[in-house]
Amino acid sequence: MAGSGEIDCREALDRLYEYLDDELTPERAAEVRAHLEACADCFALSNFENAYLRFLRARAEAQQAPPNLRKRILREVFLGEDGQPEGV
Ligand SMILES: [Zn+2]
Repeated sequence: MAGSGEIDCREALDRLYEYLDDELTPERAAEVRAHLEACADCFALSNFENAYLRFLRARAEAQQAPPNLRKRILREVFLGEDGQPEGV
């Protein structure tokens, strides 16, 4: 099945976890990405799964970190990469 680059929802979801875990070849990852850009349903799902994976990773990291760092890690996960502090 080399070449066309078009995959359907089932294929995309089949590969989603590997895609999010960076375990696909660049070609296969590109096919998944192209599908996610074209398909709102799969895109929404991938965002959800991605946030969930990030949360799991951050939580694992946070468990080994001192309390101050732990708060920062969790804040970055929920507020985004910039970790913009909430203004007070
Ligand atoms: Zn789809």
